[in-house]
Amino acid sequence: MISARLVAAAAILAGLLTPALPVHATRHVNRCPATTREPAFYAPGHGRTVALTFDDGPGPSTKRILGILASHHVPATFFNIGDQIADRRAEVRAEVNQGEAVGNHTWDHHKLSSMTESAQAREIDREAAAQETATGLPPCIFRPPYGAYDKATLRLAASRHQAVWLWSVDPQDWKANGSASIAWIRRIISGAEAGGSQRHPVVLLHNTAGGNPATVAALPAIIHFYRSHGYRFVQLFDPKLEAITG
Ligand SMILES: [Zn+2]
Repeated sequence: MISARLVAAAAILAGLLTPALPVHATRHVNRCPATTREPAFYAPGHGRTVALTFDDGPGPSTKRILGILASHHVPATFFNIGDQIADRRAEVRAEVNQGEAVGNHTWDHHKLSSMTESAQAREIDREAAAQETATGLPPCIFRPPYGAYDKATLRLAASRHQAVWLWSVDPQDWKANGSASIAWIRRIISGAEAGGSQRHPVVLLHNTAGGNPATVAALPAIIHFYRSHGYRFVQLFDPKLEAITG
């Protein structure tokens, strides 16, 4: 009996002394709902629903975007870039604390469809590790940069329980490139309002490392447009870890 106890104690001690394994996607699999391999383009939910999504963050506009969303009681979705997270962990935590859906937009925004499967896996997993380090939560949703993916991308995302979300409305707000001119603000608003022809638009907006003042300035008008046209704002993932399908 004593030897059995010693063996058990030694096993426990060994477990305590074993260095932590590197963060790896397979650790997170069961924490996100299972997902299909098919990308989704349209917002979930009944009636008229719209999903506002902010890619390429965190960045200098993140806090202002969050402030506008909060003051209008609009839930949204952020697809972040891994190598920008370490310098702006507070912003990513603020996204989570505000109840926003936060997803994976790869480590450094390469075009995945021109990469090998193992290189794609590294892009996906390094971002997931960065998000988990910053927030304690794994990403359960994924958006490939440029909307570019191949079968390997879909296989990798599905095996990690990261649902692939693209978009249906592209106001091309990133082209403002830091400008906050009235012309750009108007162009972004009208580009976003084009989704009013759809029942479940997913609007692609940006939150880049260079900042997006025109997007920030356009956001209240975009929110007003959809709300006044009877849309309900939805997220592409329920932060309470319940499955949402396209
Ligand atoms: Zn992007």
